[in-house]
Amino acid sequence: MEYGMTPELEKFRAEVSEFVAANKPAVPVKAGVRSAEDAGELALLKEWTAKLFAAGYIGADWPEEYGGKGAAHSPEKDVVVGEELARGRAPAAVQGAAHLVAHALIDFGTEEQRQKYLPGIRSGELVFCQLFSEPSSGSDLASLRTKAVPVEGGGFRVSGQKVWTTNGHWADYGYLLARTDPDAPKHKGIGAFIVDMRLPGVDVRPLREMTGTSDFNEVFLDNVELGPDALIGGVTQGWLIANSSLAHERSAVATSAVRLQQNIEALKELASRVTRNGRPAIEDGAVQERIGELAAGVAALSALVYANISRWSRGTERAYDAPMAKLMFSELGVDIARFALDLAGEAGILVEGDENAIDHGRWQDEFLYARGFTIAGGSSEIMRNLIAERGLGMPR
Ligand SMILES: Cc1cc2nc3c(=O)[nH]c(=O)nc-3n(C[C@H](O)[C@H](O)[C@H](O)COP(=O)(O)OP(=O)(O)OC[C@H]3O[C@@H](n4cnc5c(N)ncnc54)[C@H](O)[C@@H]3O)c2cc1C
Repeated sequence: MEYGMTPELEKFRAEVSEFVAANKPAVPVKAGVRSAEDAGELALLKEWTAKLFAAGYIGADWPEEYGGKGAAHSPEKDVVVGEELARGRAPAAVQGAAHLVAHALIDFGTEEQRQKYLPGIRSGELVFCQLFSEPSSGSDLASLRTKAVPVEGGGFRVSGQKVWTTNGHWADYGYLLARTDPDAPKHKGIGAFIVDMRLPGVDVRPLREMTGTSDFNEVFLDNVELGPDALIGGVTQGWLIANSSLAHERSAVATSAVRLQQNIEALKELASRVTRNGRPAIEDGAVQERIGELAAGVAALSALVYANISRWSRGTERAYDAPMAKLMFSELGVDIARFALDLAGEAGILVEGDENAIDHGRWQDEFLYARGFTIAGGSSEIMRNLIAERGLGMPR
């Protein structure tokens, strides 16, 4: 039995694993969190999302009246689901941002808003994107400048620019943070909204990334008229709402830890295929040492993930637990992919689609995407700041 697992959780794991094998969609697995490549993939991912909700494998922490599992849910089960999706090489649900907005609506929205959006999220129909980051507000998100100006009748007029919007080009709705009170201190003058992405004035421009795919977008908002029902919670409660919904995303790192374990296995396998000094690289002491070092890092990360989840469910979580796990998984991701490319030599620089590319370009994709993980959801530098200040009590 794995560290932190009980017989009941192992039984649940077997059930999820069987479900994943029987139902996972035929969508190619790429590194990281990626958008559907075309409408066909999007349709498959929506169907998959509906199945995951119906089985109670996602959304289990919602209140029962909205489809949650009540006492049958536990954060440990969320970890198991994340791990089994990764182990079965299955994609996650189509709309990561929908989970954030669902929690925002459950905790702060009106009953009308919950009835309007939650069923469509569960059925996989509604795709949401997260309209938080801006060209000069990422790490310091509270400095965001997109404005939501109150208008007569209780609505808002929104103008500004968002960027790095994952799934923006597929989204029906956006979960937006915008400045509602320019005179208030920066964290206190922000509102949270739901924006219909088809409204006049919303312009979505896909960005092509170095991975060769378009996973995120720039989104321009030009005098977009929102009704009063677009606002979630109070006019200046946006910062609290955003942080509270982000805090629900604790188990995502478990998926990443399993992906890294898989990469360690693939790295060993690669090292036994390629040569160093005329012999299989796996026989080289320096190669063994490096793989051992990376594998130890991944094992430590997995243990940390379980310890964090257990502390979280007991209410004893420390402020630097999540930053430590985020820092470890994203940096290990870069190190593993870089070493794989070193081992692969010339063939390692070829990408997917080139017949000579090693492992069909898998390591190039891993390497190019891995940097993104050191930025998304809080960069490595920010994580180190949090660990230093909150964990080690060092001065700012
Ligand atoms: C793959 C991916 C997907 C994303 N998806 C979304 C999305 O769907 N929606 C969304 O809203 N955003 C999304 N983002 C944006 C992401 O949240 C931001 O990129 C992130 O918050 C960093 O902000 P930034 O890019 O503006 O960098 P900046 O904040 O400008 O940072 C630039 C550099 O300065 C460093 N730095 C900044 N402040 C400090 C400090 N105080 N101390 C030390 N170093 C510092 C950073 O570590 C970084 O190296 C995504 C990003 C990526 C990579």
